[in-house]
Amino acid sequence: MNILVLNCGSSSLKFQVIETDLDLIEKNSERQKAKGIIERIGGQALITLESDRGEKQKLASPLRDHRSAIDYLLRWMVSPEAKLPGIQSLADIHAVGHRVVHGAEKFTRSVVISDEVIRGIEDCIELAPLHNPANLKGIRAAQELLGLGVPQVAVFDTAFHSTMPETSYLYAIPYQLYRRHKVRRYGFHGTSHRYVAYRYRQIVGKKKEEVNIITLHLGNGCSACAIKAGESIDTSMGLTPLEGLVMGTRGGDLDPSIIEFLAHKEGMTLPEIDTMLNKQSGLLGLSGLTNDMRDLLAEEQENQDRRAKLAIDIFCTRVRKYIGAYLAELGGAEAIVFTGGIGENSPAIRKRILNGLTWFGISLDDQKNQATIGKEQIISDAPSKIAVHVIPTDEELLIARDTVRSVKNAPRRW
Ligand code: ADP
Repeated sequence: MNILVLNCGSSSLKFQVIETDLDLIEKNSERQKAKGIIERIGGQALITLESDRGEKQKLASPLRDHRSAIDYLLRWMVSPEAKLPGIQSLADIHAVGHRVVHGAEKFTRSVVISDEVIRGIEDCIELAPLHNPANLKGIRAAQELLGLGVPQVAVFDTAFHSTMPETSYLYAIPYQLYRRHKVRRYGFHGTSHRYVAYRYRQIVGKKKEEVNIITLHLGNGCSACAIKAGESIDTSMGLTPLEGLVMGTRGGDLDPSIIEFLAHKEGMTLPEIDTMLNKQSGLLGLSGLTNDMRDLLAEEQENQDRRAKLAIDIFCTRVRKYIGAYLAELGGAEAIVFTGGIGENSPAIRKRILNGLTWFGISLDDQKNQATIGKEQIISDAPSKIAVHVIPTDEELLIARDTVRSVKNAPRRW
């Protein structure tokens, strides 16, 4: 089956076309036929399209909304210039898998989209006011353009964490607020944590129940996950993706009193504070320079920039804290897995995060760590009590797989 995977943001759309099926999943031999991104939807959009022959096209076109963007994409996919193998017409697109950010307590696994599911995703909008509406726009546009005969599947960022116990997901605020408004930790990046945990299991040849690990998704957004017997028992993001680790522009954990304090001192409104915490904090806020870890590392090295170094140190210390907390919570773990743009590509950051943990018996093989950029590799040395792996994430592949399994009503293996 040719699956179109869509990840719709408020003004962007990432996509992949993946050929997969139950037997291809079994053989781990799916084929990515195309991928790309459309940015700045609503104005003069920037379009990057790449076929599996590696030809990359960069274009610009006025696209007023998500429907126009998906229409543009579908036209390109079936065009002779794209030359996507096995895709000559829209009938060759067999299903669509959508990344949906918030599934709250309603959706604990991927589901085929029906009117009822759409209503359910709408009900979650107040928990993800920026993300779920964009996801819904993508779903509605794909339904309109491809017709209701093409099944669509929703894959939720929160679903993998639905196994968390109350002791992890409840905040210590009056219980009735959970009852009344479902204020609790949900966690995000679930598809990524689930994918790397699944790959880890394949790499080491273990059953799901035998997997006790910590997964670290370090990208522009960052989160840690404690996985026990193959299931998420805790994660660092909370009601929204703002909690936990230091991220590109999000501050992560902080004393909630800061909000009232700033409202008084700076005369900021609540929406202004929310924007500051989501968009102007984290690596960007600390360094005053950038949210991009590559640039920060360069500033630190080439210009000895003090605040760049400080931002990186705080970033690494926070990850280390979570590793310690999760090791305690799990009662020990056999491995730590790095993924995401920073986790996959930055030996320097991996080393700085784990440096202070040698006393505990976590030690890196420096050569392997240095040589591992964007590929699967064990980077701990032989004496390390806890193995350290780098596993590039592939959320789109997991979305495509869930789409096939949901459409065919096949059991999910992980
Ligand atoms: P997103 O969370 O938006 O999907 P990514 O997972 O692509 O983002 O991660 C983006 C982050 O990864 C950026 O901070 C970028 O600087 C960082 N990154 C990518 N490559 C490297 C590298 N070689 N060294 C350090 N950081 C890197």
